Amino acid sequence: TLDVAWAVDWVRTSAATVVEHRDELIELDRQIGDGDHGENLKRGFTAVVAKLDALEAPPATIGDVLKLVATTLMSTVGGAAGPLYGTAYLRAAKACGGSTVDSAGVVALLEAGLEGIVARGKATTGEKTMVDAWSPAAEAAAKAAADGAEPAQVLEAAARAATAGAESTIPLVATKGRASYLGERSAGHLDPGARSSQLLLEAAAATAA
Ligand code: ADP
Ligand code: MG
Ligand code: MG
Repeated sequence: TLDVAWAVDWVRTSAATVVEHRDELIELDRQIGDGDHGENLKRGFTAVVAKLDALEAPPATIGDVLKLVATTLMSTVGGAAGPLYGTAYLRAAKACGGSTVDSAGVVALLEAGLEGIVARGKATTGEKTMVDAWSPAAEAAAKAAADGAEPAQVLEAAARAATAGAESTIPLVATKGRASYLGERSAGHLDPGARSSQLLLEAAAATAA
């Protein structure tokens, strides 16, 4: 099973990967959006780490960690991604009330995150958004868990599916969010939110391994 220390490690590693990929995410968003995605996420996750550092006692549950991420992203990120990721982490937090998650718990976390993004943004797969990374990730996780995989392997399957899902956005025409203003001209570019979702899910798998 995965514990609170894993959740904290996931969040800290997410912050590091977002900082590392800031310029790449900005460039992707510059091509089909307004060029702020990398800075938005860097600001948000930097604030999350500052809040973690300031805690007097470690969080008691995985849900507490994810809720801290949710509220911080909602108040610091802005744009489309702030409320979308904020809702994802908030729903995921509600699905993880305990101090550990097993494989089924990992699936519940990912499914809740996806549900949050969909509830907030009303996108379905194929619209060139972060849903195109999260939806196959949640599906692959459920399949791996049903096959008896350990939590780390469930996250590994999710990260692999998110990677393929993010790549799948390249030829798509955006029909949600800022990129949809470009119409057909949005095709031929990787969606920045799908790419950042891939990075976050890769961080989840890397810290569980
Ligand atoms: P903004 O477009 O407001 O500048 P960001 O650049 O931070 O916000 O985030 C853009 C990303 O948000 C897109 O690449 C896309 O993945 C995601 N996104 C935008 N609208 C939606 C939506 N309705 N549903 C899901 N994801 C969305
Ligand atoms: Mg943007
Ligand atoms: Mg913006």
